[in-house]
Amino acid sequence: MTDTSTDDEREQVSVPSEIEFPRLLDFYDLQTADQTQIHEFYDNLRAGQLTTTRCTDCEAIHFPPRIVCPECTGDALEYVDLPHDGELFAFSAVRGGLPLGLREHEVPYVVGVVDLGPVRLSGRIDDAAYSDLEIGDSVSLKIVDIDGPTDEDRVFYRFEPQ
Ligand SMILES: [Zn+2]
Repeated sequence: MTDTSTDDEREQVSVPSEIEFPRLLDFYDLQTADQTQIHEFYDNLRAGQLTTTRCTDCEAIHFPPRIVCPECTGDALEYVDLPHDGELFAFSAVRGGLPLGLREHEVPYVVGVVDLGPVRLSGRIDDAAYSDLEIGDSVSLKIVDIDGPTDEDRVFYRFEPQ
């Protein structure tokens, strides 16, 4: 595991605090135990560790985290740590078509699929222009705090070039 930003050092991204249809425009998950059964994923991420679920029956590792194993339909799942470093498997630039209200996203920005070994997951690639990147580039986890429109401490993951 590489050094991951602590709470104090994390960048904060903003969702508008006053929007007409918050659940349409705020696409970040609600993250507490009474809102989602995968709250442990967010608890771990908030603490600085990217995790996902592993089935203790068939040993399949899933991403995103599940509450039932899609391979064997068992529900004996445990959270396991994922590497924080990976390789860029695919990427593209977002140049327009953003949901209304996403002032924070100044286009263009890059989204990619990152191969972490056990899983591949998609995410935003920060601090890089499309023309700077190549498939196979090394990227690292970046955890950001999500500001508004709820009062909860929410986080999400991104990646950045190493
Ligand atoms: Zn299973």
